[in-house]
Amino acid sequence: MTALQFANNNSFSTWAMKHLAINEDEQGNVIVSVPDTNGTWSHVTCSETKTNITPVSCSCGHENCKHQAVVTAFYARIYKQPAAAPVVAPVVAEQYDGSRPLTTEEWKAIIKRDKVRQRKEKDAEWAAIMRARKSSARAS
Ligand SMILES: [Zn+2]
Repeated sequence: MTALQFANNNSFSTWAMKHLAINEDEQGNVIVSVPDTNGTWSHVTCSETKTNITPVSCSCGHENCKHQAVVTAFYARIYKQPAAAPVVAPVVAEQYDGSRPLTTEEWKAIIKRDKVRQRKEKDAEWAAIMRARKSSARAS
């Protein structure tokens, strides 16, 4: 590997690591979605233990691909400090635009905003019903 190739690889993993999306499948396996420079996503299935999360396979179909390498590097960074409490990346069910996962705080804010919106819609519906009742009462 040349120095330039190393630099390119290194910046790919730095960039990809910032854009990982972490999910879980129905079996509770950790699935890390890794963006590629060509705009596609590869989904790395991982096995989780108490002390680490390691890639098992990747949707790109290659063994030991760069996507799995990014995931390995990502979790190595998280799990390398045994003194600190284990940091688990937030598990998200959905993403905004695929560029990054939402934090728990962001989800709470979204849910809160949505409740306010639903309340307003209900109130508007109710006002319309009341108006309709009044006008039908007048008509009869
Ligand atoms: Zn891959």
